[in-house]
Amino acid sequence: MKKSIKDFNLKNKRVIIRVDFNVPIKDEKIIDDNRIKMSLKTINYAIEKGAKVILLSHLGRIKTLEDKNQNSLKIVSNRLSELLGKRVIFIDTTRGEKLDNAVKKLKNGDVLLIENTRFEDLNGNLESNNNDELGKYWASLGDIFINDAFATSHRSHASNVGIASNLESGIGFLVEDELEKIGKTIDNPKRPFAVILGGAKVSDKIGVIKNLVKKADFILIGGGMAYTFLKASGCNIGLSLIDEQSIDFCKQLLNGYKEKIILPVDSIVSKVFNKDITLKNNNEFDYNDMALDIGNRTINLFKDILKNCNTIIWNGPLGYYEVESYSNGTKEILDFLSKSKKEVIIGGGDTSSAAINFGYKNSFTHISTGGGASLELLEGKILPGIDAIDNK
Ligand code: AMP
Repeated sequence: MKKSIKDFNLKNKRVIIRVDFNVPIKDEKIIDDNRIKMSLKTINYAIEKGAKVILLSHLGRIKTLEDKNQNSLKIVSNRLSELLGKRVIFIDTTRGEKLDNAVKKLKNGDVLLIENTRFEDLNGNLESNNNDELGKYWASLGDIFINDAFATSHRSHASNVGIASNLESGIGFLVEDELEKIGKTIDNPKRPFAVILGGAKVSDKIGVIKNLVKKADFILIGGGMAYTFLKASGCNIGLSLIDEQSIDFCKQLLNGYKEKIILPVDSIVSKVFNKDITLKNNNEFDYNDMALDIGNRTINLFKDILKNCNTIIWNGPLGYYEVESYSNGTKEILDFLSKSKKEVIIGGGDTSSAAINFGYKNSFTHISTGGGASLELLEGKILPGIDAIDNK
């Protein structure tokens, strides 16, 4: 078991917290500040316990000087200050005398935010390649390191693994919650246990399927990835999304787990994107039909299975949900599950966005904050950013 922030005496200590402030920004405005809000519990806890709080986060990808100009955390520090109701000291650099001096001046309960960690990527990807010297330098600024950025925990970066390798460390409340809700649910589901998988490519989900097919009672497959399975089972899928390299994998899986794997029986198809939208059964596809959502019979089939299940983990939208005409399957299943009072875990990335954007933010047991990180947890992998944290 990993140490948690609660296992440390934080008073008078310089506590470095790796948070996830990677928020969407447009025209110098934060479009969605949910990630900042999700970090408040850990930050406030550290403030209340009398720590000198030092925050690190990345924002976007930094490949050019232009990226750098557009991705300063200054705007985030202003919003954080509003949310905390106190001043946040923002240091517009990732290392050096200015930062060292500001850290030295910190008093108990102060909060300091360091500039975007990925600015270090302009200098040979030092952050993303977990440069040893950079990790050591950031660690030298603190006494304790807390990882509360779940969404980057599947990466071995200087701002998580690098610091944790050089300092006493623990996890924050957000990471603790993710590990508890996703990790423990997979190991100890209430049965029957169903996994819903969707999204574009089978190849991205092979690890998840391999790990969960033995543990789950049902795997319901929708979204673009369903059509590679349907092709593998001999259906004509027209011009629907296909992942040729995964056909053999799909065939093997369908042979081995016939009863567990549930595929769409009908789909919403178009010949031209967002035009002539038609509902078709599996055997009715024309050569130029593109399936972009699951159909009504499939929605009912999924609901019939889900109504008897007690734990449901869902990763990947069931259709091209970004476009209204193809969002019905994802919405219907979200709505059904939101009313079901079952243990429902929404596994990050597009599925979490869909759940939040369609109004189901508070309707489920858990909505993960990490796309890639939650996928790797579902694959049964150990995340490097968590692995590097001290054990109890
Ligand atoms: P992933 O990142 O693999 O979970 O894929 C998410 C993406 O899959 C979203 O952008 C969806 O629009 C897309 N998607 C879902 N269903 C389909 C479909 N039937 N055809 C094409 N794209 C789809």
